[in-house]
Amino acid sequence: MFNFKCPFRNKCVSERRVVGWWTKHEGLSSRLISRASKMDDSIQPLFTFGVIADIQYADIDDGYNFTHTRKRYYRNSLQLLRRANEKWKTETVQPSFILQLGDIIDGFNKKYEASQKALDTVLTEFDRTGIAVHHVWGNHEFYNFSRQDLITSLNSQNTDFAMREDEIKQKHPDNEQSYAYHFSPAPNFRFVVLDAYDVSLIGRQENSEQYNQALKILQEHNGNYDLNQPPAYSGLEQRFVKFNGGFGQDQLEWLDRLLSLSDQKLEKVTIVSHLPIHPSSTDPVCLAWNYDDVLSILYSHKSVVCFMAGHDHDGGYHQDISGIHHLTFEGVIETRPNNDAFGTVYVYEDRMKLKGNGRVPHRSLNYE
Ligand SMILES: [Zn+2]
Repeated sequence: MFNFKCPFRNKCVSERRVVGWWTKHEGLSSRLISRASKMDDSIQPLFTFGVIADIQYADIDDGYNFTHTRKRYYRNSLQLLRRANEKWKTETVQPSFILQLGDIIDGFNKKYEASQKALDTVLTEFDRTGIAVHHVWGNHEFYNFSRQDLITSLNSQNTDFAMREDEIKQKHPDNEQSYAYHFSPAPNFRFVVLDAYDVSLIGRQENSEQYNQALKILQEHNGNYDLNQPPAYSGLEQRFVKFNGGFGQDQLEWLDRLLSLSDQKLEKVTIVSHLPIHPSSTDPVCLAWNYDDVLSILYSHKSVVCFMAGHDHDGGYHQDISGIHHLTFEGVIETRPNNDAFGTVYVYEDRMKLKGNGRVPHRSLNYE
């Protein structure tokens, strides 16, 4: 779609067995014959990390989503983050880091000129854990701040931690400040943070190449006056809305090169982005515009084991044909005050184990 010249688009990918996962939601946890049931919790993980998505904090009364189908608990989302922090602090194996998958505060803050105050409030809450946080940028970040603001206030890519043990000096080319980087928290494991709003109408200046590319894509696919209205009632075309975005060619080529190095080093790679990239892991209205370009790259690298995203508050999961686990995390903002939405991932040599809380189900994620 973005004319990304992908040499591996037609690469044959063999179907792998879909085994070893389970979900509370599907009621299979006790019956599904999988390696999950044989896990020995006494085995010490190599490391653990926390995951939380779509906090969307605002100091305002509860409201509803765009279609008035889901209640949003703007103020209480901070309490849910606090509970997540308390849980992470008491984990037997302290999380090495936390992945904040984007939409850390809600766009309503802009209307009330409370953006910085709301961000400070949430970051202060994160700081209480003393655990490093990797921040992904979502659409609500851009409703509140410019890219330049975020580089200053919500940027985890240049921390010592992010680049620790990082032998790959090549970072994402700074083409108008795309926000993508990688880090290795332990030998043989790498995490990649992607910028899903690289090509977008939000967060890009109107005279930029990325803005104009995004405008062209949306004009081609969405005839609505309000570009936040999906152009179709069903199917993948729904994704062509203003609140989504895409990955630029530079970023995709950078990702491809990075994964080639990870392949050589026999690393296990987890990629994170605000937008999901597999149609079976999300409602299509939340899918990245050029999700297929990213999937093509992932399928050509044996190092990728997992893709984590937020944005779709209902969450989702799918293990694709190459064995990659696609997790879309349930959003905090639409989680009732007496419930939870966060997880801790235990990483082992042969698998990851997601210990979910509240709406986030437990999952065993075997490396295929
Ligand atoms: Zn979002």
